[in-house]
Amino acid sequence: MRQLGLSYAQMQRKLLEDTGIHLSKASISYWLRGIPDPSGSLNRFRPDPSPELSYVIGVALSDGNINVHDYHREILLSVTDRDFASEFSRCLGRVLGRGEPYKVRWSEKRGRWIVQGSSILLHKFLNCNWFDLRKWIEHCGKCESAFLRAFYAAKGQYAARASVSMIRIEKCCCIFKICFGTLTSNRHSCT
Ligand SMILES: [Zn+2]
Repeated sequence: MRQLGLSYAQMQRKLLEDTGIHLSKASISYWLRGIPDPSGSLNRFRPDPSPELSYVIGVALSDGNINVHDYHREILLSVTDRDFASEFSRCLGRVLGRGEPYKVRWSEKRGRWIVQGSSILLHKFLNCNWFDLRKWIEHCGKCESAFLRAFYAAKGQYAARASVSMIRIEKCCCIFKICFGTLTSNRHSCT
């Protein structure tokens, strides 16, 4: 965009049009200069539909362990199920164009597997009205099943926890009904 000679305001508008993400001019400036943004990393993220993105959405919507800290824009999953953590790390790596999965580390203190990623763009994307994410979840059969796998993995985590937030579960059920009670025919297909 810089090579096209766009101003910050034009870049801001183009980014919003292309990705639905609104970034401050300051963040764009940091981004262009390659300086780490104080409000979070600007790992590459394009909201192209894919089973991996659908999985990340499924985790973000259904599991409260995704923490997005105000200052770090961190996306963190902390769970007892190692396979769940591994799959999330793989999907997050793909979604953020890393070419390799994020590290899954064991926390002795918490007794949990932890995956930590950081991206202001993905954070903004996941923080939009969750109803709007339906378009990505319903993209194709593979995207739907990836969402479901994340949903059930997260659900397994609830069962393993003593304190269960009813609000969270209600939200999950609501998402589930919206996504799968009224499915329209899918015209797309992820490879
Ligand atoms: Zn798809």
